[in-house]
Amino acid sequence: MVDYNSMNEQKRLEALYSYDILDTDTEKDFDDLTALAAAICGTPICLISFVDKDRQWFKSHHGLDARQTDRCHSFCSHAIQYPQQLMQVEDAQNDIRFRDNPLVTGSPDIRFYAGMPLLDKEGYALGSLCVIDQRPKLLNDAQQKALQTIANQVVDKLLLRKNNRNLILANKNLSESNKKLIAAENSLKKAITDLKESKDKIQNILDIVGEGIGITDSAGTIIYTNKRNQEIFQLDEKSMLGLSNLSSEWNNRRSTGESLPADEHPITVALNTGNPVLDYVFLISDQKGNSKYIRMNAMPIKDISGKVNGAIGSFADITESYLLQLKLRESENSLKSAISSANLGTWQMNVQTKELIASNRMKELFDFYPEEPMSFEAAVGQVAESHRQEVMDIITSSISKDKANEFEFPIVGYHDKKLRWVCATVQTYKNPGDLNISYLSGTVADITERKIDEQRRTDFVGMVSHELKNPLTAINLYLQLLSRSINKNNDPLLADKISKIDNQVKRMENLINGFLDVARLGEGKIRLEKSEFNIADLIKVNEEECLNMISSHRLVFEPAESALLKADRNKIEQVVINFINNAVKYSPHNTIINIRCFTKDGYVYITVKDQGMGIAIKDQPFIFDRFYRVENDAVKSKKGFGLGLYICKEIIERHNGQIGFESREGAGSKFWFRLPY
Ligand code: ADP
Repeated sequence: MVDYNSMNEQKRLEALYSYDILDTDTEKDFDDLTALAAAICGTPICLISFVDKDRQWFKSHHGLDARQTDRCHSFCSHAIQYPQQLMQVEDAQNDIRFRDNPLVTGSPDIRFYAGMPLLDKEGYALGSLCVIDQRPKLLNDAQQKALQTIANQVVDKLLLRKNNRNLILANKNLSESNKKLIAAENSLKKAITDLKESKDKIQNILDIVGEGIGITDSAGTIIYTNKRNQEIFQLDEKSMLGLSNLSSEWNNRRSTGESLPADEHPITVALNTGNPVLDYVFLISDQKGNSKYIRMNAMPIKDISGKVNGAIGSFADITESYLLQLKLRESENSLKSAISSANLGTWQMNVQTKELIASNRMKELFDFYPEEPMSFEAAVGQVAESHRQEVMDIITSSISKDKANEFEFPIVGYHDKKLRWVCATVQTYKNPGDLNISYLSGTVADITERKIDEQRRTDFVGMVSHELKNPLTAINLYLQLLSRSINKNNDPLLADKISKIDNQVKRMENLINGFLDVARLGEGKIRLEKSEFNIADLIKVNEEECLNMISSHRLVFEPAESALLKADRNKIEQVVINFINNAVKYSPHNTIINIRCFTKDGYVYITVKDQGMGIAIKDQPFIFDRFYRVENDAVKSKKGFGLGLYICKEIIERHNGQIGFESREGAGSKFWFRLPY
């Protein structure tokens, strides 16, 4: 028997609440049972009553309107005190426990009461199934038994109902979990699609990057390779996957050529140390056997715990730039050795600060001691005064026109005050992004010997020419006297001889004048006697003379354009004749020589084009140099001193004009000059 102390009452109430029955709607199943019990027991009222903390509540209330009453008036509270037994009250008016009960003294005027406790499986009496009459009576055995059976039915129903409800709840939970499961499945599907999309995107990105990308697992086995990587190694994806960074396919070598030890490979280092390796350069061979210089970065891949479980490598094929760098270094070295074997001084100057860095050889040329500072001003100060302004002008023009220059000038030694001639070159450099020239640099070579040699030759030529000029003047005089007397005697044979002598004397005079010009040029004494004349007239006179004198070649004078020039007519004529004479000298008989004179963009152009031997590229830079003649048998067989073009250049440049030529060896030359008009 259950002991209904407060502790048990608490447990009983918990058991009751677990059925969740209180204050629920009436249910037909229970109502059928109360109707059945009332009919069997022959009572007007039958209740299924549950005893709550302060009340009794009726799940079914056959024959009574009320749905609950206070617990203190409850018959059932008494009934459940003896849970195994049926409690019968024959006449409540005679029962001391109930006679004052308002349910007895008033409506519903209870006289008879029989209550069978409703016991759950744990033995708690949740309430009772009771039959009530307003008349005193007692149930017979059959009725008692029936009431007990029906009470069991009520408990079964209650249990069923509870189970049902639990089932429904479980079902509900199940369907909710199902829904959640479906939602989770959907988000999983979406995540998978997103993942695939982003994987595709990453794959696309990796395929268009310029560098090869490979991913390995923790053993160095390749598990991913992008397209560029496949190009670098000349292997398709299928053949690459599964190989390792140390596979013999790659023929890994150090950049110096010897085989690369396994533990030096960047991927191995990243896998072993967990640290990245950057900008490692080494050699590999692609599948076609081409050696390639690779610059590589390797990055370890770590899991959340920090354990290295793979590596990513990026590969750049730097073969071209690497080889270029090697070549550059080589040519830098050979330049250095060329500079040192040519005994050249070198210099560099910051255009902004005018800071000059001069090599020891340059200091030696300017006669500064190696430890002595040599500023730009000091260097310029040692340039002979006669040439100082010209040197400054050339440097300034190099800076303003971003143009390399080469120039010769005399300098005076800083300590020994000796005069030396130097040839200096100047190159311009810009810092990346700068509009203006940032640096000048160049070389300085000692040309004193050559200059002295040239001077000696020029002096000699000048002296000899002067010496020759006087007898030639005398010969000319005698020739004139002779030709006058011959004219009188009318001797045609002698007249012919005299005219031939006269021609030879004129040739000699021309030669001597040329030598004198050179001597004067060397001394800076050549003088221009300018007058105004039409270039077309000059060409015309020349045309007549040339056509008379030259029969070995076919001279074609195109109609000359008129243009007024203010220039030294004789000297310009000398240039034209020199061009024509050279064309005749250096081209085969009967070939055509074209002479054109035209104007363009404010210049008068004169061109003389031949079909002769032409000039080899190696000789072209020196053609206008003093005493320069091409060294070959064809040229040697022609008389000359290598002075004509030198004089022409001086004459044209002193007129602010330009002179030049286009030529190909064996394919003729075209010499030209232009003068502003
Ligand atoms: P020279 O004719 O007296 O040698 P120049 O100064 O006139 O001297 O010419 C210099 C050199 O240029 C010549 O020796 C010759 O080698 C070359 N040259 C000049 N003109 C021509 C030309 N029309 N065709 C081929 N070579 C030429």
